[in-house]
Formats: sequence, C-alpha cells, structure tokens
Amino acid sequence: MRKNIVAGNWKMNLKRDEGLNLVNDVINLLPSDNEVEVVFVPSFIHLYKVNKMCLNLDKVNTASQNVSKEERGAFTGEISAKMVKDIGASYVLLGHSERRQYFNETNEDINLKMIAALTGGGTVKDKLRPILCIGESLEERKANLVETTLKKQLSESFKNVEFLNRSKATSLIKYIQDGVIIAYEPIWAIGTGETATSKIITETHQMIRKILNDIGFDGQKISILYGGSVNRNNAKELIALEDVDGFLIGGASLDVEHFSDIYNFF
Ligand code: PEP
Repeated sequence: MRKNIVAGNWKMNLKRDEGLNLVNDVINLLPSDNEVEVVFVPSFIHLYKVNKMCLNLDKVNTASQNVSKEERGAFTGEISAKMVKDIGASYVLLGHSERRQYFNETNEDINLKMIAALTGGGTVKDKLRPILCIGESLEERKANLVETTLKKQLSESFKNVEFLNRSKATSLIKYIQDGVIIAYEPIWAIGTGETATSKIITETHQMIRKILNDIGFDGQKISILYGGSVNRNNAKELIALEDVDGFLIGGASLDVEHFSDIYNFF
C-alpha cells in the first residue's frame, strides 16, 4: 500500500508565532482517525519547535526543506542530515525546483544529499526520508522532452546509491521503495496559479512509475505526490486520480483553511 501524504512547504515564509499558530490550527482541525499523513515543511529555524508539537500525534510529521551533502565539519551555514534527524524530523525535501533554479543545485548535488540522508544503519524509521522533487520546464514540455528530463533527474538522483545494487541487496531496494517519496512538480505550475490538468498528471505519474521500474524499483510501490498550485478549488479533482498519492503544497499550505480542506478531501 502506498502512503498518502499532504505536505506543506512553507518555503521562506512565516515568523515563529505565525508558524506555530498555523500548526496548532491545522492539528486542531485534523479528524481523530486521520488516515493521511500530514507533513509540515517549515524553515530550519522553526523545525525543532514544529516537530515538538507533532511528537505525540499519529501521522503528523515534519520535513526540512534542504540538507547538506556533507556529513559534518567546517561548512558554515550548513545543516547535516544527522542534525535534522536528531531533532526528530522524518523527511527532507530534495531537488525542489527553487533550489535547482536559484541555488544551482544539480542532480549530482541531489544525489549526494540523497546518500547523506539515507546513509547509516537501521531501518527506514532511522533514516531521513527523501521527498525527491522532479519536474520539467515549460520549454521541455513543449519540446516533448518530459520523459527525457524526468528519467535524467531520477536516474542521476539515485546514482551510486548503494541500495540500487540489486544483486547485492534486494531487500535494500525494498527499503528505498518504502523510504523514498517522489513529488512530481512541473516547474511551470509552481507558484504560478496554473495547475497541470488531470490528464497531464495521470500520464506523467504513470511515466514516472515506468521510469522507476526501468531503474530497478517497483514504481507501483512508491508514493508519488503532485505539486504545483494545488489549492482547495482543484484538490478534490486531483486526489481522485488513481496515480496521485498526495500533494506537496506551497502557497496554499500557509492558509489553514485551504490546507485543512485539502487534507479533508482525502
Ligand atoms: C512547492 O513549493 O512545492 C509548490 C508546489 O508551490 P505552490 O503550491 O505554491 O505552487
């Protein structure tokens, strides 16, 4: 069974009180038997506090928006996967298009961050689980390069991840499948108010599952979230799509009513 997740990426928004009030309000509006996992993705500076508020709640977790590819040492301003995990966060966003665009993050960087997040012993619960964001630009879509782009992003992000070595470690493949979440976020739909159509989302999520199969996973077992201008007006239609396992939400996650309504559509 694939996990259903509604994740709210706050980006560089919300002061401490605003963030904590938002979390409090969202939590209060959750049904007592929430089936779908909620993931708050605040800035690093709020992560500890937000995580503390979620500690005793079932299916309410946190993610960092980024992580260093380095394990430790003289890297001023960086935060390691171990530090993020140590304060209790469950996930890390990797490869968000804003990081690729404004901070020149390459697939190679994302691959190293992926390895940093997944390195170390233990079970899936002991890892910082990547939510890997992939997606094409408008130019790439118009030039019929969606599959090429997504294949490159996926294969390069998972490159050298030792768990990919199936002959050595079949069970680790399963671990990756259980541990990694994919977020399909077409760049042209992020923060633009333009959501991809149901047809595009279905086709692309199926394409992603096929690529995952091609690179050694079982694409049917990995959760794929859709992200790109999701709000309470369009979420109902999108969540009905069989290949959509949840959402990564930016702007609308800052609004308690939008975020809670989207959650409750599940
Ligand atoms: C995002 O930041 O991942 C995102 C999808 O943003 P928005 O919902 O604002 O388009």
